Amino acid sequence: MSRSVLVTGGNRGIGLAVARAFADAGDKVAITYRSGEPPAGLFGVRCDVTDTDSVEAAFDEVRAQHGPVEVLVSNAGTTRDGLLVGMSEQDFFDVVNTNLLGAVRVAKRASQDMVRARWGRVIFIGSTTAFWGGAGVTNYAASKSGLVGLARSLAWELGPRNITVNVVYPGIIDTDMGDTITGKAREHVINNTALRRVGTVDEVAPVVRFVASAEASYVTGALIPVSGGNGMGH
Ligand code: NDP
Repeated sequence: MSRSVLVTGGNRGIGLAVARAFADAGDKVAITYRSGEPPAGLFGVRCDVTDTDSVEAAFDEVRAQHGPVEVLVSNAGTTRDGLLVGMSEQDFFDVVNTNLLGAVRVAKRASQDMVRARWGRVIFIGSTTAFWGGAGVTNYAASKSGLVGLARSLAWELGPRNITVNVVYPGIIDTDMGDTITGKAREHVINNTALRRVGTVDEVAPVVRFVASAEASYVTGALIPVSGGNGMGH
């Protein structure tokens, strides 16, 4: 079955690997990008998840090309690290606006079509940071733990319509974002990871694809770690 899949922030990093995994499995995949050109072979729609009009326009484009979104992977994310004591309110807000409110914007729009179709899969990309916290990441951790309450509540709202809502949460993954964690901080994470290494985007993508599959029909409101054992037991 070829579904209409949308991956936000699918132009690079984890989102791109996820998008390619769906495309390789035969789905119709759209990705959002903000600038430049979309990756070869994927249908790209320009979208900034902090802008509701941009989100609406992107969903309209996807609908016209592939039909209403049936699988949403809300992946777009950002960081503005710094200690809270010196952090501007803007830096806190920008991260929450992208990581949490951005997820709200796309999930709201996607769920309207999914409710009509009486089928759908919503997957939020969370983070182990939601559970560990960490000095310098109050904004990021708050945004990612916000996704947990969002997903679990939305799972209740949409469950009766055969729509599942889950969070796949990576540990440290080798991407532009993951590579900003360096030195002692990186060492600390690796030492607290059972597999003693960072992960790759290709280790995240198949898990996301599974959660979106027909086989995962009874999985909802779940928090699924892809962390090499960093922070087991959340
Ligand atoms: P990257 O920095 O490599 O990519 C981030 C993606 O998000 C880019 O496609 C970027 O688009 C997009 N994005 C950022 N802001 C916006 C916005 N306002 N509107 C639309 N798109 C936006 O990060 P990763 O691939 O590593 O991260 C992907 C997700 O995984 C994020 O949610 C991140 O928090 C999460 N994660 C990552 C971990 C890691 O170690 N890498 C660990 C745990 C979670 P653009 O190219 O235009 O900037």
